[in-house]
Amino acid sequence: MTLFDAELATRLTRYAALDSQSDAASPTGPSTQIQWQILRLLADELTQIGAAEVQVTEYGTVLATIPATAEGPTIGFLAHVDTAPQFNATGVKPRTIERYNGGDITFPDAPGLVLSPAEFPYLATKQGHTIITASGTTLLGADDKAGVAIIMTAARHLLENPGIPHGPIRIAFTPDEEIGRGVDKRLPKDLAADFAYTFDGGAVGEVEYESFSADGAVVTVKGVSIHPGYATGRMVNAITLAAKIIAALPHSTMTPETTAGRDGFIHATDMTGGASEMVIHFILRDFERDGLAQKGEILRQVCAAVQATEPRAEITCTITPQYRNMRYWLENDMTPVTLARAACARIGVEPVSVPIRGGTDGSRLTEMGVPCPNLFTGMQNIHGPLEWVSVQDMAKATELCLALVQEAAGASKDRPPAE
Ligand SMILES: [Zn+2]
Repeated sequence: MTLFDAELATRLTRYAALDSQSDAASPTGPSTQIQWQILRLLADELTQIGAAEVQVTEYGTVLATIPATAEGPTIGFLAHVDTAPQFNATGVKPRTIERYNGGDITFPDAPGLVLSPAEFPYLATKQGHTIITASGTTLLGADDKAGVAIIMTAARHLLENPGIPHGPIRIAFTPDEEIGRGVDKRLPKDLAADFAYTFDGGAVGEVEYESFSADGAVVTVKGVSIHPGYATGRMVNAITLAAKIIAALPHSTMTPETTAGRDGFIHATDMTGGASEMVIHFILRDFERDGLAQKGEILRQVCAAVQATEPRAEITCTITPQYRNMRYWLENDMTPVTLARAACARIGVEPVSVPIRGGTDGSRLTEMGVPCPNLFTGMQNIHGPLEWVSVQDMAKATELCLALVQEAAGASKDRPPAE
């Protein structure tokens, strides 16, 4: 047992039981009303533990300050309160397994469902740990309530121990990360941090500062609609043309299911419509600007080629930027990454930096001027019923947070004073 295990387990199970699923189809911010419940609860808890400047913004972000006890940069810590829309998140019943025996884990509400260390080797390394899972019919929501619990526990510890030297700390609990709407345009100014970290990563040691660069694309195919009985030589079926576009794209080399590592993809996420008009949504992903632009070009060329086969149709392709690889900004000043790595060394953890095949709130925040790498929480198998987290891993992340703020305060002493 470490100092923080019991507190982290209690916090995570309490937060996970609150449904706070986001909804991409909703136009409101936060996207679901249920997120307000956990946001208000977290604001109350921050007040109770003695945090300063506790605020729930009108865009649904909880902000708070831990006042400085020493000189140092202002550091932000972020975690998101929403859970993924991809899987049932209503009625989460978190379950704690003490002293995990290293064997298969079964689920009370889903006979037949098995979480096996043979299939998930990381689990095999957690023998003796306290493991938290859901009950089999829902996700757990450790993504990212593990991050919330870690930040809250570290904050409580710092506020109770003012002898620990650290600069000003800003906390932000955000909504709607899972639907890519977690960072409101007012957040960078309201957060007022020199740099920040999301606690939204997986395995112990992860210090991530590379994310995908991302565009969205909408392809619209307008056919010629006419009664099928009088259609000879006249009808242009939009469905046929949409199918041609999909068929002409490189689907055995450039899709999520056929790529890994540093390779990007073109992913058709949905296709709706009928014979008269079809709309296809795509997401384009690559780690580099050139690769991303190339994927957009492939999509445009395919649309143009299909258009050329049927001049009576009208095919349009609109590409919109979503987020950019945070490395583009961080490589100019690696201080936040260097500090996180030094903090890992301080707690005896080997830092690992693997490019994220996705984006985080940190990708947007970095682009908006607040450099924001992503740190591990321990969460595994996210967005599904096999989601789990080790409490001891969460405790390591809590220690990392505490080591990081001290490292930053210490580092600032060696630097020339700011102007
Ligand atoms: Zn997350």
